[in-house]
Amino acid sequence: MKQVFDIKTSSRNQLIDITPTVEEFVKLSEVESGICVIYTPHTTTAITINENADPSVKADIIRKLADIFPHEDNYQHLEGNADAHLKSSAIGCSETVVIADGSLILGTWQGIMFCEFDGPRQRRFIIKIFNG
Ligand code: ZN
Repeated sequence: MKQVFDIKTSSRNQLIDITPTVEEFVKLSEVESGICVIYTPHTTTAITINENADPSVKADIIRKLADIFPHEDNYQHLEGNADAHLKSSAIGCSETVVIADGSLILGTWQGIMFCEFDGPRQRRFIIKIFNG
């Protein structure tokens, strides 16, 4: 079972909690045991799992990534978004979560985040569920 989801981002750098969407899709799939892959098909976005309870964690991730990958840095890529490509590769474009008893196994504070690094834009992510 696979589905493409549209997401509209509102800033250049943004982490959006997509856990409720993923959980709802898992319920709809009626898969009791398996694996859920969350993937983003863009070169300047990413998917990560981290704390969703305290919003300052998202802000710290964005700030520290900006320290590591500054917007201007004599990059060879001339589109003006080299930092966004680097952030995307550092974080990664997918996450995998185990499904047990019909639900995602996530820790109490864990949430699945869509990461925008070159917004605002219309974006997509894909959820694919494997039964097994
Ligand atoms: Zn580019």
